[in-house]
Amino acid sequence: MTQSKGKKPLIVMKFGGSSVGNTERMKCVGALVDEHAKQAEVVVVVSAMGGVTDMLIRAANEASKGDREHWKGARQELARRHRAVADQLLTPAEQAAVLPRLAEQLTNFENLCSGFTLVREVTPRAMDTLSSLGEVMSATLLAAILRSMGRAAEAIDATQLIVTDDNFGSASPIFEETNAKTHQGLSAIRKKGAIPVVTGFRGATREGICTTLGRGGSDYSGTIVGGALEADEVWIWTDVDGVMSADPRLVPAARIIPEISYREAIELSFFGAKVLHPKTIQPVMKKKIPVWIKNSFNPTCPGTKIVAAPTDRTPGVKAITSVSNADLITMSGKESLSFPRLATRVFNGLHLEDVSTLMATQSSADNVLCFAIHDADLARVKARLGKTFELEMLHEYVGRLEVMPKIAIVVAIGENMKGTPGLAGRAFSALGRRGINIIAIAQGSSELSISFAVKSADVKEAVKAIHEEFQL
Ligand code: ASP
Ligand code: MG
Repeated sequence: MTQSKGKKPLIVMKFGGSSVGNTERMKCVGALVDEHAKQAEVVVVVSAMGGVTDMLIRAANEASKGDREHWKGARQELARRHRAVADQLLTPAEQAAVLPRLAEQLTNFENLCSGFTLVREVTPRAMDTLSSLGEVMSATLLAAILRSMGRAAEAIDATQLIVTDDNFGSASPIFEETNAKTHQGLSAIRKKGAIPVVTGFRGATREGICTTLGRGGSDYSGTIVGGALEADEVWIWTDVDGVMSADPRLVPAARIIPEISYREAIELSFFGAKVLHPKTIQPVMKKKIPVWIKNSFNPTCPGTKIVAAPTDRTPGVKAITSVSNADLITMSGKESLSFPRLATRVFNGLHLEDVSTLMATQSSADNVLCFAIHDADLARVKARLGKTFELEMLHEYVGRLEVMPKIAIVVAIGENMKGTPGLAGRAFSALGRRGINIIAIAQGSSELSISFAVKSADVKEAVKAIHEEFQL
């Protein structure tokens, strides 16, 4: 751990929903923070208790349909779950201080839902305020738990720290302002030697309107805070032992990877590995702050360290991931529509729909563009491209948009694949030996990953084959 002499290292610890899912888990988190606070200065970022965010969103949606009963039930459940923790883990003095604050949050919940019922609508902006109430409650509780254990701690709402744009539901931080505000907002608490407990998931616009960073966004909150404070490390506590060489449901022999690079981690999260929110690495990348993935259910397991340059430089594949619900789309231009023109208009259409491609290839002299997307995006993409090329399709300047459904994209990832000949060949042979047909392939010149499109039905075999071939 790099740190200036004599000073305790600064560690930002983010705890996910399952890590704070019930009284017992909250107690473990309290103990973990307490233990590490002996050797380090700890700043905590916390998610809502597991399942709470889903419950809040559902309540808002039901309320907007005019259903009062549903959110009244949800209110009781929220009260029950948070009070159970307070009853069991807080000293009487802390209970007296915290219960009124929880009640206040529940009243906010009620007022918001009641409003949604009246107007039969929930706007994205109102949804953000409501859906992130779980974080306010969990941060309030966790800080009180730490105080009940004899540690100075203070809950702080990230709406006072993280400044974002107004893209409600998936806001992006404005880093310069966030960094300054986070520094300043936490300095009084830190100077007192208290542990700040920051709400994950939420931020606020410059005008102070609450926003959220997207589902699973507390990981991102963790690194935003870590980056702002120039922390020595960010630890993301979750419910798995680390980043795995493959999905263990597909490959029972999958193992924990001790160290991976930022770029490998980004690649993995983009292609569906659930362990990290895809934007998590961005705030710490330039500052080269290491990010650890650790298991709060198994804290003695070291976990995975995500760094700029891992020490292990063995050439080859590091991990395999896959996206199962994809479609492969093929569009062909005739002579009059060159490939660059075809591609520009296709990708512009995707951009307008805010759809990202999983892979894309150009093949043959016939201007054939082939790309893969998540199946959930298919209807929008078809409608958009249908409109974009309406005339050309009518006059047959472009071929029809062909969709091959039920596709899986299998991605072999490893920074050290670069410049090592024969790796793709080995992957091909491994698939070939098992009779798996490769429908399309893509590899960029960065050689960070190779993507194979196969039939969805083949995904398990394909991932296993490559995993075995590279002895992961
Ligand atoms: N509680 C939020 C969610 O469930 C954020 C998070 O847990 O990361 O999406
Ligand atoms: Mg998460």
